Amino acid sequence: MSIAANIQKIREEIGPQVKLIAVSKTKPNEMIQEAYNAGQRAFGENKVQEMVAKFEQLPKDIEWHMIGHLQSNKVKYIAPFVHLIHSIDSQKLLETVQKEAVKNNKTIDVLLQIYIASEETKFGLSEEEALDLIHLYKQNKYSNIRVRGLMGMASLTDDRNTLNREFSGLKAFWDSLKSEEFINNPEFDTLSMGMSGDYGLAVDCGSTMIRVGSSIFGSRA
Ligand SMILES: *Cc1c(COP(=O)(O)O)cnc(C)c1O
Repeated sequence: MSIAANIQKIREEIGPQVKLIAVSKTKPNEMIQEAYNAGQRAFGENKVQEMVAKFEQLPKDIEWHMIGHLQSNKVKYIAPFVHLIHSIDSQKLLETVQKEAVKNNKTIDVLLQIYIASEETKFGLSEEEALDLIHLYKQNKYSNIRVRGLMGMASLTDDRNTLNREFSGLKAFWDSLKSEEFINNPEFDTLSMGMSGDYGLAVDCGSTMIRVGSSIFGSRA
């Protein structure tokens, strides 16, 4: 199937309430342009250099989403144009994003990445660490940042029970934050979970944003 047909199929599956981020990492500009021509505007990348190069070469109304682990010393390269950083996983990173947002005289939207998988390699905060950051945020320590929600990556498994447990756990944490910490803050509206192999289940569990690469662009080398 074509890129346009893949996007169309996924859009129909997830419905209008869920936002699709087309994960274009490692894929050439021609493929991104093809998705763009099919109406797709939100793209996800996991490497700073690659994202900057694509931003410079592709249409300026693309929303660029940083979905990969982000080193503090590289925030400055994406701060001028990034639409949403999904991968805040430390206080140091949040502080750097704040600094760069001030330098650019703008507000930067972010998600806190929560560790939900059983694998040791995945980045992310525990719920406790996330709460600590949220408390600092609520003391107006990060005036140029808007915390829009949470992001999580489930375990690399086909086991639906495991995936269901991880997604439901993240949804429950998101719900509790929404109704307690962010009760007067409707900007906290995003739950980024679900990839090519598991987005159907993620949406069933309450995802509002899915990050899909290989089901749109084909498998990566
Ligand atoms: C690569 C990546 C995706 C997309 O993975 P696919 O399985 O190709 O859909 C989603 N989220 C993150 C954080 C990624 O790094």
